[in-house]
Amino acid sequence: MKLTLLGAPGAGKGTQSDILSRKLGVPTISTGNILRSAIHDGTSVGLAAKSYIDKGQLVPDNVIIDIVQERLSKPDCANGFILDGMPRTIPQAEALIAHGIELDSVLSLEVSDEDIVERMAGRRVCPRCGASYHVRGTALIVRPDDAPETVRDRLHVYHEQTEPLKGFYEKLGLLHSVENVGSIEDVSREIFRSLGIVE
Ligand code: AMP
Repeated sequence: MKLTLLGAPGAGKGTQSDILSRKLGVPTISTGNILRSAIHDGTSVGLAAKSYIDKGQLVPDNVIIDIVQERLSKPDCANGFILDGMPRTIPQAEALIAHGIELDSVLSLEVSDEDIVERMAGRRVCPRCGASYHVRGTALIVRPDDAPETVRDRLHVYHEQTEPLKGFYEKLGLLHSVENVGSIEDVSREIFRSLGIVE
């Protein structure tokens, strides 16, 4: 299956794409993870991407399209893949089609902005000790772009540039929408049902 997950930042795309990946036996390709590892390694892609990510903006389409095209050409994607966080713009979706990358389904995970803001605040708690501040008094922020002001920018970018993809894929008959409410397991079950995956 060739699938992509749409959803606002913090909507649960990473969690659900990992579950789908195990279920379907195909790799998850997260453009956010690829970019973060490029930044960590100090590559030219990482250097180009960092200032956009830090500001909660989208990395330019041409950078993303090159990364994804290269990754999808690897042998482990031959039987399918799950894209997590790509496409995020109509030009990215059009580029996939232009490069002959045909998706079977598009899953939109729906969460209200209020819930997103609450969830992201929860992420700023140490997963090991539960503290929101460490001894040296610095606020613990798991990802720099999860800071509240950046989350607001990312939500704005999502509504403006990524949400129109729902209409784009609905017209192509590929869109499935699932509300991300309840436990992770309940949402997975609803996703499997919506995509016609036998449990
Ligand atoms: P994510 O981990 O998917 O939330 O992505 C983190 C950040 O990486 C985003 O806020 C963007 O700055 C950048 N990014 C990830 N995927 C894309 C994409 N498909 N297009 C543009 N920017 C992206």
